[in-house]
Amino acid sequence: MRQTLIAVSIAAALAAAAGCGKDTGQNPSADNQVQTKQTAGAKADGGAVAANSLLKEWTGPYGGVPAFDTMRLEDLKPALEIAMANQLANIEAIVSNPSAPTFANTIEALERSGSDLDRVFVYYGIWSSNLSSPEFRAIQREIAPKLAEFQSKITQNDQLFQRVKAVYDQRENLDLNAEQKRVVELIYDDFAMNGATLKGEAKKRYGEINQRLAELYTQFANNVLADEEGYDIFLTKDQLSGLPESIVAAAAALAEEKGQKGKYAITNTRSSMDPFLTYSDNRALREKVWKNYYSRGDNGDAHDNNAIIAEILKLRDERVGLLGFDNYAQWRLQNRMAKTPERAMALMEAVWPAAIARVKEEVADMQAVADAEGADITIEPWDYRYYAEKVRKAKYDLNSDEVKQYLQLDKLREAMFFVAGELFNFSFTPVEEGSVPVFHEDVKVWEVKDKTSGEHIGLWYLDPFARAGKRSGAWATMYRDHTTFDGKQTVLASNNSNFIKGAPGEPVLVSWDDAETFFHEFGHALHFLSSNVAYPTLNSGVRDYTEFQSQLLERWLSTDAVIDKYLVHYKTGEPIPSELVAKIKKAATFNQGFATTEYLASALVDMKFHTSDPKDIDPDAFERETLEALGMPDELVMRHRSPHFGHIFSGEGYSAGYYGYLWADVLTSDAAEAFAESEGGFYDKEVAAKLVKYLFAPRNAIDPAEAYRAFRGRDARIDALMRDRGFPVPEKQADTVAAQE
Ligand SMILES: [Zn+2]
Repeated sequence: MRQTLIAVSIAAALAAAAGCGKDTGQNPSADNQVQTKQTAGAKADGGAVAANSLLKEWTGPYGGVPAFDTMRLEDLKPALEIAMANQLANIEAIVSNPSAPTFANTIEALERSGSDLDRVFVYYGIWSSNLSSPEFRAIQREIAPKLAEFQSKITQNDQLFQRVKAVYDQRENLDLNAEQKRVVELIYDDFAMNGATLKGEAKKRYGEINQRLAELYTQFANNVLADEEGYDIFLTKDQLSGLPESIVAAAAALAEEKGQKGKYAITNTRSSMDPFLTYSDNRALREKVWKNYYSRGDNGDAHDNNAIIAEILKLRDERVGLLGFDNYAQWRLQNRMAKTPERAMALMEAVWPAAIARVKEEVADMQAVADAEGADITIEPWDYRYYAEKVRKAKYDLNSDEVKQYLQLDKLREAMFFVAGELFNFSFTPVEEGSVPVFHEDVKVWEVKDKTSGEHIGLWYLDPFARAGKRSGAWATMYRDHTTFDGKQTVLASNNSNFIKGAPGEPVLVSWDDAETFFHEFGHALHFLSSNVAYPTLNSGVRDYTEFQSQLLERWLSTDAVIDKYLVHYKTGEPIPSELVAKIKKAATFNQGFATTEYLASALVDMKFHTSDPKDIDPDAFERETLEALGMPDELVMRHRSPHFGHIFSGEGYSAGYYGYLWADVLTSDAAEAFAESEGGFYDKEVAAKLVKYLFAPRNAIDPAEAYRAFRGRDARIDALMRDRGFPVPEKQADTVAAQE
């Protein structure tokens, strides 16, 4: 079975455009990675399988590798259908076993089931993210409802659940080790969270609610999309003042594409709105663009989402009521690191006052610039980005071209290998050309070994460059995860980016942000590679925890050892000057009032929506009153206003979970300080050993809160995060947040 969370895994596999969690941006897709596993053992049936390369057992070196060189799109649909049927047959075999349920004949059998589907999903993931095409997307549309139906056949299989429950009920008396017990609990909880414990009328109602919610999620997303597509603005040449050339060129190309050659298109999306508001000198146009963007789903017309939000909140509340929870957030957070809405709330409320206080300072700085220019205005929300940019130029100006000359892609990769060697004791060696199949000539593969013992750990695939059919951004995936319960399986991890190829013989130079992202994704890969768990389910992710490991790894980019040896000028070989690094770090705290406040406002409203009684809720009034009570500054709005907050209303990926980004940030800052404070700094052997042992290798085999405590000797505190954002550390809260069980 694909992880415990079969539902989540499939959603992730389907979410072709899922981004990695570096950004709290607009992509509401479910998961960051498509994590897949392959288990040896279960045999698929004869003829059809033999002909279909996607279903074949992986052969070749390193415990078998995906046959990327022979994958054919026409095999995909039949492969998925056969693999789904095989998994259902596996499940049928489990439930029809005449013997009483045991850990081996139920839980292990479940962990072993579905290996064909896991393999097919690896190819599916490549077509969806790395090699997409209209032909693939047609198959994806056709297969999506079948996968959803297949998934509910498993999660709603009562006979299967009764066997799982029988093992769960006796788990204390079965002589299970800690990992086995946790597998049983995670699998049981997953069924229970999804309504398996219900009977009769309640079960029926549960199913009806889910069906209606699925419709509402789609409507919500479609309404936002309609408002993003329905408000294009076409500018004339005299309306471009202030816009950089690159934005003008993109706007001209977009207008031509939309049949308005000679004009300049600004669309109602973040990628268009954000730079326009940052640079345009035309205040009236800024106001218009701002209003269009922040009114998406809130225009009182056919695409208005307020009634949909009210219905979603009521149905969610009713559904978790059937399961015995007081509110939706309580249900949602039970298997998150935060565990309760109160703890998530406490964290947000501890940071909030500093964030809005900083907004006041930022607004004062901006007002001073406007006054000095004789603008005769009061800063409004559509002025924030514009004047913030002027302040940035004056106070923190960085020449990004100068920085880039020290950031060569090949050197950065070597730097990551160096860090992995120091912290994880891993070595990376390129595999012999042609020995491991790849799906594109740009993809390169390295073998990962333990530096001391020489033991084979796994393979690392890197697909670095942009091309047509590849989705944007950067991400990490697992083609096969580490397990030992059925014989040892080694890891196949991959990193994917969209760097632009350099001219032949020239190094690829990247921005500081992109270098950080490269390290971030490598952090995910190291999390996969360092796994020492026995069962597939224990490799599953925890929403408010899995971005922490990757965020933490970003910190090694600016360590002295990396700077001196790897961040060297591509012509002179000189290391990046320390003043430049200091400037980069200082710039990172710029505009944190705005960034933290707009994010937290969304996260707080999300949590309040899901902890309040939705009986007579008017979402519009609720949002307004909640923000008023919080003292939201007038000069900015929520990053995602409720009527277009797709993270929480076009699905359940981040509902009552938007706080998770901040939660992971707290852990990141606090863990980074554990290194900074230690004798050996960021390369301290003792802290590194604890990092691997408690925070990386156990994946989800240990409760994340317990794992963190074992690493740090205490719970995480917010002090380090406040320092990183340039906020004052609150005296009283120093010991509270992210603490207490
Ligand atoms: Zn990530």
